[in-house]
Amino acid sequence: MFETLSRRIRDAVDKLRGRGRISEADLKATLREIRVSLLEADVNFEVAREFVAKIQEKALGQQVLESLTPAEQILSVVYEELTEVLGGEARQPVLKNEGNVWFLVGLQGSGKTTHAAKLAQFYKGKGRRPLLVAADTQRPAAREQLKILGEKVGVPVLEVADGERPETTAQRLRQHLTFDYRDLVLVDTAGRLQIDENLMNELARLKAAVGPTETLLVVDSMTGQEALNVSKTFDERIGVTGLILTKLDGDARGGAALSARHVTQKPIYFAGISEKLDGLEPFYPDRLAQRILG
Ligand code: GDP
Repeated sequence: MFETLSRRIRDAVDKLRGRGRISEADLKATLREIRVSLLEADVNFEVAREFVAKIQEKALGQQVLESLTPAEQILSVVYEELTEVLGGEARQPVLKNEGNVWFLVGLQGSGKTTHAAKLAQFYKGKGRRPLLVAADTQRPAAREQLKILGEKVGVPVLEVADGERPETTAQRLRQHLTFDYRDLVLVDTAGRLQIDENLMNELARLKAAVGPTETLLVVDSMTGQEALNVSKTFDERIGVTGLILTKLDGDARGGAALSARHVTQKPIYFAGISEKLDGLEPFYPDRLAQRILG
């Protein structure tokens, strides 16, 4: 991911190398190229526009035009802005000593089930006692998949029954926790191929009944801008506290990943970087910015 974008930003800036002083027109031409490469990478229009405007403002403020190394200066401003657009400081979900209940929500195929298991493995490795909950009341196959993954990572799975009411699920979960101490409950909620009213109602009811401490929206970074529209709906209907961007190892152009933070106004907590169960990383905006600028 980001290969084309990365190359194009470097090419645009490289044209300024060895030029000594540059003019405002040179700067604007470079910024135009960066803007086009962002749009071609499927970055949200607003994000691209603001991104370039901020770079221009900073570059002029820092007197890049007077500098003897304008290319390096611009690259450093682009790096700062990329880090900013990806969320600035790295953020982590709130993790208390006990009583943590995290919902994973998102469309079917986004990587929800895989990431529930990845999180279980990740936190188990940090000494936590996770419990997975297979909460899709309509798709036994989804529950089965989580049970298999739970076994792989050595974490128990509480499974809902077909058609179980959200209130019953909440009660069963509370009951389970009285005899099996767990400090992090990861709920793999129902996903559908598209947003549908029933799904949203069911999720809202489950959320009200269980009272999660974090609601993590799982976003497939391969699906482009559409993924972000979906995010807005989930946030409006369910309330989202943070994002997990999956499939960052894929060959998409990267626009969704770069726009996610701005469009949803939610921090990106984790990145999924492979199909394997250890393919999960805390998300560091500065490291990704560095990688993009290569
Ligand atoms: P769900 O329907 O949202 O629960 O999605 P799944 O967890 O079943 O994942 C859908 C597909 O995406 C599966 O084939 C996963 O192996 C794959 N997948 C999930 N996360 C990643 C990732 O970070 N990278 C890659 N390459 N594949 C992933």
